[in-house]
Amino acid sequence: MSAKENSIDGLTNLKIVQYPHPTLRHKSKPITRVDAQLKHIISEMFDLMYEAKGIGLAANQVDLPLQMFIVNVAGKRDEGEELVFINPVVSSPKGTDEAEEGCLSIPSVGANVVRPEQVHVSAYDLSGNEIDETVEGMLAKVIQHEHDHLHGVLFIDRVHESSRHQLEMELADFQLQYDQMRSTGEIPDDAAINRRLAAIEARYCA
Ligand code: ZN
Repeated sequence: MSAKENSIDGLTNLKIVQYPHPTLRHKSKPITRVDAQLKHIISEMFDLMYEAKGIGLAANQVDLPLQMFIVNVAGKRDEGEELVFINPVVSSPKGTDEAEEGCLSIPSVGANVVRPEQVHVSAYDLSGNEIDETVEGMLAKVIQHEHDHLHGVLFIDRVHESSRHQLEMELADFQLQYDQMRSTGEIPDDAAINRRLAAIEARYCA
């Protein structure tokens, strides 16, 4: 059993995948098992997030089909609070606010997004404690952005029509780079990606 479990690759030495990697469009499944490996994954995710100067990172972005994301709005290891959201549910949107967003999976691309100003989030943290909070401001924006990732939604999907043209030109470069990485085998084909995601779901979401 353990030999088989250990045969899943990409559970250590995580990397942030970039648009248009298919895992970014994968709808993640709820996690039913938290083990030492998952805790290690989350610690690696924090390392990657700080390295990339981000304030939030979702499992999809490190090629994992799991409903979890991390946040530290301070963006620095020794500042702010490290938050882990497992199986998050976002509800009760109130108000609207427009702000520029970016994404570690679409580096150097930014665009304005309108989102509810306040939401309610319920989830579990890494110790299994329930999170049940109303959030607003930057924390609300990050939580909504990361929660979107878990459902295969990217901030570029929420950009207003008027900014669309500029955005499409920037995204075309990512597509070119992706096609090249595909052609050299650096990124596996869809069937191989899906087999790996299914193996991870069998382990953590059964
Ligand atoms: Zn993102």
